[in-house]
Amino acid sequence: MSQNIAGKVVIITGASSGLGAATARHLAALGASVVLGARRMDLLNALAEDITAAGGKAAIARTDVTQAADLTRLVETALAVFGKVDVLINNAGLMAIAPLDALKVDEWERMIDINIKGVLYGIAAVLPYFKAQGSGHFITISSVAGAKVFSPGGTVYSGTKFAVRAISEGLRHEVGGAIRTTTILPGAVDTELTNGSSHADSATALKEFYKQAIPADSVARAVAYAIEQPDGVDINEIVLRPTVQEF
Ligand code: NDP
Repeated sequence: MSQNIAGKVVIITGASSGLGAATARHLAALGASVVLGARRMDLLNALAEDITAAGGKAAIARTDVTQAADLTRLVETALAVFGKVDVLINNAGLMAIAPLDALKVDEWERMIDINIKGVLYGIAAVLPYFKAQGSGHFITISSVAGAKVFSPGGTVYSGTKFAVRAISEGLRHEVGGAIRTTTILPGAVDTELTNGSSHADSATALKEFYKQAIPADSVARAVAYAIEQPDGVDINEIVLRPTVQEF
């Protein structure tokens, strides 16, 4: 159990794999009630069962973050099952690496829809509730690619990660008096994210780049650090990389 994590209700989007799943397990072990959203219900079910079997508390709801109504339903699930929401972790994401001249326009649109609009829909679903409650914590998963353009091939992905970093900082300006906002910028982490690139040369280069990747629980610990601070302390940004990573 951890002092300012135990008893909190934490919503996590993209919780079916990678950072989201690792963060769910870690926070649940520290006493949070976790509310898990993603599209793959079989994985969410299995994760919730694991967390419950280990003595934790979890609820799930099928969530496609490109559908604003799904985010509303995820928040309603949290309220129905656990009675409140303390933290929203906007984590769901897609990384489709390819040079612009490959013209993968449909992948640009999917990244914008999932990585940017999905984050905004999450904010929209929770913000009125946090404002009425007078407290809350938005955690946004950006990337080191949101601080530095990832190349070759990361132009649009970086664009989405710069965007959510800006949105999170703007949100802090607007609601910072009572509501905490944290942006996490991870480097290479070993997850399913590299499967999102259909461009063959980029996928091969990514495979090489990700040989240095660190485990997903590294990010889970960073998230826990942000949440466990006393309410008067807002950890605004955390950048973490594999020690050997240059980019
Ligand atoms: P994964 O591919 O393992 O996880 C991505 C998650 O997002 C899955 O749970 C997937 O669930 C979910 N997701 C994708 N599309 C949607 C959608 N339309 N609606 C709801 N959920 C969706 O990768 P990571 O864990 O690495 O990625 C998590 C976040 O971390 C992303 O935002 C990523 O950009 C960011 N990040 C990752 C880094 C890394 O090196 N791994 C580095 C920096 C940032 P499902 O398919 O079941 O819907």
